[in-house]
Amino acid sequence: MTSPLVLAGPCSAESREQTVATAEALAAEGVRIFRAGLWKPRTKPGAFEGVGAAALPWLAEVKERTGMLTATEVATPEHLQTVAAAGVDAVWIGARTSANPFAVQELADCFAAMTPERRQALAVIVKNPVSPDLELWVGALERIYSAGVRRLAASLRGFSLYGESRYRNAPVWRIPIELHRRLPQLPVLCDPSHIAGRRDLVAPVAGQAMRLGFDGLMIESHCAPSQALSDAAQQLTPADLGDLLRSLPAAGAAAGNNPQLDDMRARIDALDDELIDVLSRRMAVSREIGRFKRKHAMPVLQPDRYSELMTLRRSRGRDAGLDDSFVAAILEAIHEESVRLQLKD
Ligand code: PEP
Ligand code: MN
Repeated sequence: MTSPLVLAGPCSAESREQTVATAEALAAEGVRIFRAGLWKPRTKPGAFEGVGAAALPWLAEVKERTGMLTATEVATPEHLQTVAAAGVDAVWIGARTSANPFAVQELADCFAAMTPERRQALAVIVKNPVSPDLELWVGALERIYSAGVRRLAASLRGFSLYGESRYRNAPVWRIPIELHRRLPQLPVLCDPSHIAGRRDLVAPVAGQAMRLGFDGLMIESHCAPSQALSDAAQQLTPADLGDLLRSLPAAGAAAGNNPQLDDMRARIDALDDELIDVLSRRMAVSREIGRFKRKHAMPVLQPDRYSELMTLRRSRGRDAGLDDSFVAAILEAIHEESVRLQLKD
C-alpha cells in the first residue's frame, strides 16, 4: 500500500474567508487536493444550495496561495463547462447524478465535445449512485470513459438503504470490492464522511477503507464544522483531519506484515458490519409487526408461523452450505429477541 490519495475540504464553499481559511489549515496538515462543493444537491428545497460559480475565484485563490489542486462537483454540462474554463483540476459526479444515466450521458457528451487538452486537464471521480446497484455505477464510469476521459476514479460514498443503520449511507463493502475485481486498473477512493454522517465515525470508516486496499480518501473538513451550512455533523476540523491521516494504517506497514491475512480480516470486518446492519433492520421490522399485532389484538407468539419460518430458513441455510445446528441457534436467538421487543413495545 502506498500512501493514499487524499482530497479534503468543506462540503460547501460558503464564503471566501471560510474557503481560504480551511484550505490553508489543510495545506498545513499536508493535504494536496482541496475539495469544495459549489452547487449542492439538497434533499429538500430551502436548504443551502451552494454559492455556485461565485466561489470559483476563491478556489483560484486557494490554488495560488497554497499550491493545492482543486476539485468540485458537477451535475450539469453548464457546471462542467464553467469549472473547466476556470482551471479547476478535478471534478466529481455526485451520487444523485451518477444514479441518472441521462444526466451522466449529458456530462459525457460535454467531455467528448471538449478539446483533448481541456479534457485531459481534468481528473474525474464518479461517486457511487445512491442505490446499491453496481451495474449503474459501472455504467456511469463507462459513459465517462467512452467520452475520452482517462484520468478516472470511482469513489464510495455509501448507499441509501431503507431502515435503521449505524451509517448515514451504508458502505456495502462488497460492491466496491466487486468493482475493483472487475476493473482492477481503476483507482477506487472512499468518502468516509458521507458514509458516516457523524464526525466520530469518520476515522473508523477511513481506517476500514485503507485496510480494504482503497487507493485514497475524500474527507469533508471545515474550519468551523458546527457552523457549516451543509453536512455540519460530519465535517472535521483541519486539525482533526490531520490526526486522522496520521492514525491511518501506516503505508506499507500492513503489507509488510501479512497482506493476505490483513485483506481477509478487513473483509471479515466489513461483513460483520453488514451483519449488524441487517440485524438492526430486521429488528425494526419486528417492532413494526409487534405494533400491528397489538393494534389488532393479535397474540405475539404464533407457533405455526414460527415453525414454518424455521423450516424454510434452515433449508435455505443448508442450501448455502451452513451447518444446520449453527443456523438453528442463530435463528432461535433472533426470534427470542424479536419476541422480547414485541412484548416490550
Ligand atoms: C458532497 O461530496 O458534498 C456530496 C454532495 O456528495 P454525494 O454526492 O456523495 O452526496
Ligand atoms: Mn457533503
